[in-house]
Amino acid sequence: MTSVLEMDTTVAAGMGFALSDEQLAVKKMVREFAESEIAPHVMEWDEVQRFPRETVAKLGALGMLGVLFPEEYGGAGLSYVDYVNVVEELSRVDGSVGISVAAHNSLCANHLYLFGTEAQKRTWLVPLAEGRRIGAWGLTEAGAGSDAKGTRTTAVSDGDSWVLNGSKNFITHGSVGDVAVLMAVTDRTAGTHGISAFVVDLHQPGIRAGKKENKLGLRASDTATLVMEDCRIPKENLLGRPGEGFVQAMKVLDGGRISIAALALGMAQGAFECSLAYAKQREQFGKPIAEFQSIQNYLADMATEIDAARLLTLRAAWMKDQGLPTTKESAMAKLFASEVAVRVANLAVQIHGGYGFTKDFKAEKFYRDVKLCTIGEGTSEIQRMVIARQLVKNS
Ligand SMILES: Cc1cc2nc3c(=O)[nH]c(=O)nc-3n(C[C@H](O)[C@H](O)[C@H](O)COP(=O)(O)OP(=O)(O)OC[C@H]3O[C@@H](n4cnc5c(N)ncnc54)[C@H](O)[C@@H]3O)c2cc1C
Repeated sequence: MTSVLEMDTTVAAGMGFALSDEQLAVKKMVREFAESEIAPHVMEWDEVQRFPRETVAKLGALGMLGVLFPEEYGGAGLSYVDYVNVVEELSRVDGSVGISVAAHNSLCANHLYLFGTEAQKRTWLVPLAEGRRIGAWGLTEAGAGSDAKGTRTTAVSDGDSWVLNGSKNFITHGSVGDVAVLMAVTDRTAGTHGISAFVVDLHQPGIRAGKKENKLGLRASDTATLVMEDCRIPKENLLGRPGEGFVQAMKVLDGGRISIAALALGMAQGAFECSLAYAKQREQFGKPIAEFQSIQNYLADMATEIDAARLLTLRAAWMKDQGLPTTKESAMAKLFASEVAVRVANLAVQIHGGYGFTKDFKAEKFYRDVKLCTIGEGTSEIQRMVIARQLVKNS
């Protein structure tokens, strides 16, 4: 068995810090898209909480709704490192689009890619990866947030069907999605081993969107309850075997957390850039505020923490690309990057003074948007539990 020391050394030796020409080209393409197609509309979408379906469709046409999947399944066939760059670049301009792309790719579509049969991949993954359909993923419920054991949604076998009843909370794309992977209890006596995963067409009878959340931030991303009332789906919509849904979900989250780290990183980068530009142009006491040591310290701390978050995030992505286990590294990247993003966005508002408190400057929106990163796909408290468990288990 590889020791922790060997593993850490292998990772350090194998990781290159430079992006290849191809990786840089993808990053540049997404940056240009974000600046031309997203930036002009960010505040308008945020204000009215409008999900930018047409913009997401354009991202689909560029392959960005199937970043990680092989071309034979309609994807772009890119790496996790590329995926981090894509989510970072989108989130640098608008975290709402960033989280949308992240939830679609690494939760819904990746669950199907990892655990779907060949037939399920052809039916469900290909249209998602090609960007023709929008995917959602539902684990959370009113009584099952950090603790998924509290899942109450049931799936009962009935002839050639499963019949689903219950509701899922806070589902990204809950009201605009076309397809969802949902976790439901198939055996109440088996604890987490009684939870199974199903793929469901969101346009079929028996499933509907409930309350759409009115959120603090990421307001252009769609977050809604999904309600199932005698939702009858074919037997073949079960993913894997009965009882495997919880373990599948945890594996999906190992990848998903890298995308939330990238989401946090992108927003932190955006908040830093607008702060640096503002500090160089805003004058007080006869000189740019960038010349005051307090402001310089803020900028130095922001840049240093963002770089550290980027390295942790790229390490987790690189390890995923090597097929290495990343439970600890994904959680570390997500924990650190999200907490950095909150600190950076706070300093961004501080550097902007009163103007940072208004919607005329980008800092205000970053300040609201970043908070989701310490909550979604496992709170910071849960990430610390995941990391500590891995440390204790492998010591
Ligand atoms: C915008 C948005 C989008 C989302 N998208 C999705 C989605 O697409 N699919 C999906 O399934 N879910 C989604 N979620 C749900 C999200 O993953 C949960 O909100 C999150 O896991 C926390 O669950 P909770 O909100 O019930 O908080 P709770 O679990 O009630 O936690 C409340 C507090 O208690 C702490 N806590 C709980 N247990 C422990 C413990 N054992 N030790 C220490 N502290 C603890 C938490 O860290 C937190 O601080 C989304 C949420 C939001 C806000």
